[in-house]
Amino acid sequence: MTTIAAVSTPNAIGGLGVLRISGDDAILVAEKIFRSANSRRVSDMAGYTCSYGNIYDDNTFVDDVVLTVFRKPNSYTGDDVVEISCHGGIYICKKILSLLYRHGAKPAEAGEFTRRAFENGKMSLSQAEAVMQAIHAEGEAALQEANYARSGKLSAQMRNALQDITAILSALAYWMDDPEESPPELEPALLTETIRKLCARLSTMAEEYENGRVFREGIRTALLGRPNAGKSSVMNWLSGFKRSIVTEIPGTTRDVVTEQVKLGDYTLLLADTAGIRTATDRIEQIGIEQSYLEAESAQLLLYVVDAAVGFCDEDQVFLDRYSDRKCIVLWNKIDIAHASLPQIDVPIVPCAAKLQQGDAALLDALRRVLGDAPTEQRPTLITERQRVLVLSAVDFLQNSIRLIEQQQPLDMLYETLQSAALSLGEIDGDLVSDSVINGVFERFCVGK
Ligand code: GDP
Repeated sequence: MTTIAAVSTPNAIGGLGVLRISGDDAILVAEKIFRSANSRRVSDMAGYTCSYGNIYDDNTFVDDVVLTVFRKPNSYTGDDVVEISCHGGIYICKKILSLLYRHGAKPAEAGEFTRRAFENGKMSLSQAEAVMQAIHAEGEAALQEANYARSGKLSAQMRNALQDITAILSALAYWMDDPEESPPELEPALLTETIRKLCARLSTMAEEYENGRVFREGIRTALLGRPNAGKSSVMNWLSGFKRSIVTEIPGTTRDVVTEQVKLGDYTLLLADTAGIRTATDRIEQIGIEQSYLEAESAQLLLYVVDAAVGFCDEDQVFLDRYSDRKCIVLWNKIDIAHASLPQIDVPIVPCAAKLQQGDAALLDALRRVLGDAPTEQRPTLITERQRVLVLSAVDFLQNSIRLIEQQQPLDMLYETLQSAALSLGEIDGDLVSDSVINGVFERFCVGK
């Protein structure tokens, strides 16, 4: 393996900067610029050991650093790796990197360290994608989801599905070779049942990808309802501080106020709107139009009803208009409410936004509407690439069921199942072209 080097920390001033070298000559290249404080040579260092010393440009001192050696195959990439922790100056890092280049290392491309880990069998392609997601995670849910995929559970699920198809393929190959001997698993009803179950498993995974996205990226949520229902108070309650203006005059929130709110495993990207009503004031009218726009683009609607006023026709019209959407009714002001709960087909959360009461009920409703967060036992797909491949496998499997039902020739069935296997194989990179691998790794940063 050629020896590559890069700065792995951001191109910014910080406490520390870390450079990474990986490849056959990683240790030799590092040795040329490093002198340890105890005169120990880098080439004499065992794996997982570090040494304090200085970096020199010929005889000019550059920086004092800690150098760590990882011997292959026990390193991130699977090659010999050296990491140099220096002071986190932009110029210091660049200077040390240029010394590494001068002594034979080549510049690493985006994601090349992780690509080597994949090529050396240290991780599958979906695990490499999970590393990328972990780096980009902006919250606990996104991190956990990436870590579930990183633990290899997703790969294991894919392998199981692939094995199921391969088992059918080998039975088919056996039968095509010797048509007199039909293996019992190829009995049409049994075979259809096996493929159907596999289809269902994979379809669920593709559906749960969307669900996973909600946990990863947060759900765009519009706060709606008639003026004075308590939308701004809900915003303030959920975001934990006064963000929206709360008044007793209907029509106070004329613009859309947004806030990222964390409730249990859910991240809501909340937009407080002007509310739904017929307004005469032109500016307020624009705000109301904006509310409908928010509702159109939101993934979740939180519809606030003033429980003291009760559920009215305008509320019903709104809920009917968005009946195909994920929606929760916040039955607000229960501290002063007199009206009874309406009989509607939408989860209702009794709450008192002003008193910040109703968290548990809201969380429960979110669970019902959005589903549970992915768990290690039930990891979800984490990239669109994976989802497309799973759906393509489902398509091929459904086609193969049709072929069985139509009693089509076995070689056609064999080909269709093989295409399903190829799609699944691409997910973890077992059966994958260079251009797909390039596509995955070019999204990484240099140094990872
Ligand atoms: P918006 O127009 O829907 O944004 O409503 P606001 O949040 O501005 O609230 C309108 C009025 O209702 C304000 O006077 C709030 O203090 C009051 N309000 C909001 N939530 C509650 C609640 O839970 N209980 C009571 N008693 N009053 C509330």
